[in-house]
Amino acid sequence: MEDLLPSSLRKLRTLAEDVARERIAPHTEAVDSDCLFPEVAMRGLAEAGLMGLHVPKRLGGHEEGLLALALVTEAIGKVCPSSALCYGMHCVATAVIAGKASRYQEDRYLRPIAEGRHFTTLALSERGTGVHFYLPQTKLRREGDTFVIDGTKQFVTSGGHADSYVVSTMASSAPPEAGEFNCLIVDRDTPGMSWLGPWRGFGMRGNSSCGLGLVDVRVPAENLLGEEGDELWYAFEIVAPYFLTAMAGTYLGIAQAALDLTLQHLRSRRHAHSGESLAHVPVLQHKLAEMWTGVQKTRYLILHAAGQSDLGDPEALIGIIASKADVADTVVWVTNEAMTLCGGIAYGENSKLARLLRDARASHVMAPTTDILKQWAGRVLLGLPLL
Ligand SMILES: Cc1cc2nc3c(=O)[nH]c(=O)nc-3n(C[C@H](O)[C@H](O)[C@H](O)COP(=O)(O)OP(=O)(O)OC[C@H]3O[C@@H](n4cnc5c(N)ncnc54)[C@H](O)[C@@H]3O)c2cc1C
Repeated sequence: MEDLLPSSLRKLRTLAEDVARERIAPHTEAVDSDCLFPEVAMRGLAEAGLMGLHVPKRLGGHEEGLLALALVTEAIGKVCPSSALCYGMHCVATAVIAGKASRYQEDRYLRPIAEGRHFTTLALSERGTGVHFYLPQTKLRREGDTFVIDGTKQFVTSGGHADSYVVSTMASSAPPEAGEFNCLIVDRDTPGMSWLGPWRGFGMRGNSSCGLGLVDVRVPAENLLGEEGDELWYAFEIVAPYFLTAMAGTYLGIAQAALDLTLQHLRSRRHAHSGESLAHVPVLQHKLAEMWTGVQKTRYLILHAAGQSDLGDPEALIGIIASKADVADTVVWVTNEAMTLCGGIAYGENSKLARLLRDARASHVMAPTTDILKQWAGRVLLGLPLL
């Protein structure tokens, strides 16, 4: 199936693999052990021209869709999952900006993104509404040519490092209906913004997924994305497919990395008493085959759904929803099995596999979570509305 990819996509994937190997891999260990934001990785991706993946060509970008996002995030995720997540969030936020960008937003955000001079991210989640990311409680009011924002966000990937934040708020109309929201771009260091504590996660430790306080934060009215009332369009046409695909690619990369480490271990580990490598043990061959099949099935689902979506097929939605639920099940299972197959060395505190297992676990926690996605997939199959 991958041989069927157009050459433009294969080139992008090769470019991402090169950056991952040369610029990102040397820092992966420190990113994890020291909770270091992957600044070097982001610079490498910017210098390679990969930041404008979803920016229109006329503004200097690649104008690519979900298939490219899945391929590039997998390539980065295989080497440094934290970097893949920060890059993925940048891509989702870029797609949200590009969805209905005004001339002002094109010049101020999209052109610099395509030139690798601007790095953005998403700030949707809130403590109050948790995994229901489409129900912000952050308040918005309009004062002439200015919007004023008050509220608190949680888990903002690249918090404090990105140049801008796509922030969701309740609608500015009074009183707003539940579920009505707006998205605005807030520049870094706008007065009234404060970062709530450093991020020290179980995994994805380079992410800088911090809380964000917003007190009387004033942004120009031009920073509103689309029209007031575009919320459902943004949530389900852009945020959901791009976010789910970026996550799917990232976690697929982790699963592939765990499979590669397992292969390497089974080939190289020999017992002194028999001189035989573990590669000759039938039960391990059997387990390895199951792991490979699981990873490949997940890859086909992700790439097929992403490709269908790029072609505008309305049937793509269920595949995209199922992709992220499926990759979460696969990556947790595969990294867990890999830990067993690679034995005591892999169980060491800071082994590569230990990091992959910790990083993999975020797949079930990040919204929309696996349980919610499976519920959504069931509703699509039954012809019911998603929410
Ligand atoms: C590493 C990391 C990076 C993140 N990056 C970002 C980011 O860049 N931007 C952003 O906006 N957010 C981000 N998030 C936030 C994330 O997407 C979730 O919103 C957040 O983790 C939810 O946590 P919570 O404790 O509020 O979950 P809770 O809402 O308390 O949910 C706890 C559990 O209950 C389940 N649950 C809750 N309600 C239901 C229901 N109705 N049906 C079924 N199950 C339900 C959930 O599935 C979950 O398993 C990030 C999170 C992590 C861990």
